[in-house]
Amino acid sequence: MRFDVITLFPELFAPFQSVGVTRRAFESKAVDLHLWQLRDFADDTYRRVDDRAYGGGPGMVMLVEPLVKALAAIRSDQAAAGGERLPVILFSPVGRPLTQTRVQALAASPGAVLLCGRYEGIDQRFVDAHVDEEISLGDYVLSGGELPALTLIDAVARLQPGVLNDAASHQQDSFSDGLLDCPHYSRPEVLALPEGDVAVPPVLLSGHHAHIARWRREQQLAITARRRPDLIDMARLQGALSKEDERFLKSLLL
Ligand code: SAH
Repeated sequence: MRFDVITLFPELFAPFQSVGVTRRAFESKAVDLHLWQLRDFADDTYRRVDDRAYGGGPGMVMLVEPLVKALAAIRSDQAAAGGERLPVILFSPVGRPLTQTRVQALAASPGAVLLCGRYEGIDQRFVDAHVDEEISLGDYVLSGGELPALTLIDAVARLQPGVLNDAASHQQDSFSDGLLDCPHYSRPEVLALPEGDVAVPPVLLSGHHAHIARWRREQQLAITARRRPDLIDMARLQGALSKEDERFLKSLLL
């Protein structure tokens, strides 16, 4: 899949190209990343990409024209590579919050053009004419769309076949089955602390796969019911909770 990122700070993407899961995704070409410096598409010699807002007030607005030119260059590059027309995603606090369901759908898609805002945001006429989807990371304000773009790319990259060392590992992550993840433990079996020894939950050492699976499921149900009851409601609506799950939830003193 392919991502074209329009940004004023392409250098922010470099560290992710050289480490970990994202590096593997880029090197294997599972994710083909193209960075586009918006200033390269500015008209004047000052490479200006922003101006004051009509109606007054503090803060600058990203100009339509450089954005239109950048998008045209991306479209012709995509066409020359024989690719299809990818949807344009703008990162914005007024967008829909990003979810794992959306990440999974994007991971199975041919990709997207990711537009990173700066300043007060971008001229609404570009949004109306060219943006297919607005995505928010959450109810807080960042200074730019680069971290949201990296967040989306990272979340999508780790779902690409062959990118994680263990292909099954993302299937038990939080949200992939609608619930939060269970706790994880590794060596040592007993951790000596000044307050006393802390052992790993014994069921995990039992070798009994069905018991371990049930324990993990119950941990997931318990933590989700306590911290994110909205996700339990959603899982119930989607028919993702078994009778055994419901019995366990009822037994919890919430
Ligand atoms: N005036 C805007 C905020 C602009 S912040 C508002 O109040 O809604 C500058 C840029 O950072 C935005 O254009 C957007 O691309 C990015 N950004 C900031 N917060 C974000 C969030 N929660 N989710 C996604 N993108 C965000």
